[in-house]
Amino acid sequence: MTARLLDGKLLAESVKQNLKKEVDALRQKTGLVPRLANILVGDDAAAKTYANSQKKVAQDIGIDYGLINLPEDISQKKLIESIEELNRDPGTHGIMIYQPLPAHVDYRLVAECVDTAKDIEGMKPANLGKMLLGGAKIIPATPAAVMEHIKSTGVKLRGKEAVIVGRSEIVGKPLILLLLEQSATVTVCHTGTVEAGLLTEHIARADILIVAVGKAGLVKGEWIKENAVVIDVGINRIGKTIVGDVDFESASQKASYITPVPGGVGPLTVVMLMKNTIEAFKLQVKG
Ligand code: NAD
Repeated sequence: MTARLLDGKLLAESVKQNLKKEVDALRQKTGLVPRLANILVGDDAAAKTYANSQKKVAQDIGIDYGLINLPEDISQKKLIESIEELNRDPGTHGIMIYQPLPAHVDYRLVAECVDTAKDIEGMKPANLGKMLLGGAKIIPATPAAVMEHIKSTGVKLRGKEAVIVGRSEIVGKPLILLLLEQSATVTVCHTGTVEAGLLTEHIARADILIVAVGKAGLVKGEWIKENAVVIDVGINRIGKTIVGDVDFESASQKASYITPVPGGVGPLTVVMLMKNTIEAFKLQVKG
């Protein structure tokens, strides 16, 4: 069979329309709109391009977007003071810090200074802890994008074998909890799985396969179970092209649904950050 394509741009557009309606309703109810403040340290051109695309998505939805561009040589103390100022500002509802930060700044320490209610990246221990308890409102954006893709297929997760390849804090680990919350049976593969020679064995069982490793074409079509839903989070640059962690051609012959790279998980990730900004607004502004 040939898999159906999970078009991230199309899905992002439809989620954006729903979020726009939600922001309109919040504006009518409270007289306010959510505001997202993005902190960018230094002059990295790629980060600025990304910030511009984020600004466009925010504006399409009706979210007020502010880029706070600080100098490369800013001290950690001054950076923390800027964050604390945003924490105190009742008009700012979400704060995001671009990575990487300059080497003299400790990202974890700085990120920990963001008010928990404004942590729209969802990576503070308090927000990750809420995910553990279930029903969290703020979910890290990439795992949230993965779940949105799965939801769009209509495939029910209850009792399904979900296999995640990659156990990073920002993708693999949060996905364990999100898939478990939907009653999937969850397996996580990582370098230890590879060393034990068990990677293909686990992948072969997956009804839902999510790959977030960062190795071009790691997962071959012949490893994949017939009719699996395949979500490829990987972004790998090969010369001028970008490819995922799954060998798209061969995997498309086995999967029922598959995300392309680029154009799969990526376009939805930024929209999920906006969803978190709206959730943060609702937690802070009582209408
Ligand atoms: P990471 O480097 O933090 O983690 C990679 C994980 O893969 C580790 O847990 C490691 O144990 C595991 N791993 C390494 N080699 C392996 C192998 N051969 N087999 C199985 N597991 C292996 O990476 P990350 O930050 O989670 O990112 C993973 C990929 O996803 C990258 O390509 C990154 O660019 C991409 N990404 C995409 C988005 C998006 O929005 N689309 C967001 C974040 C990351």
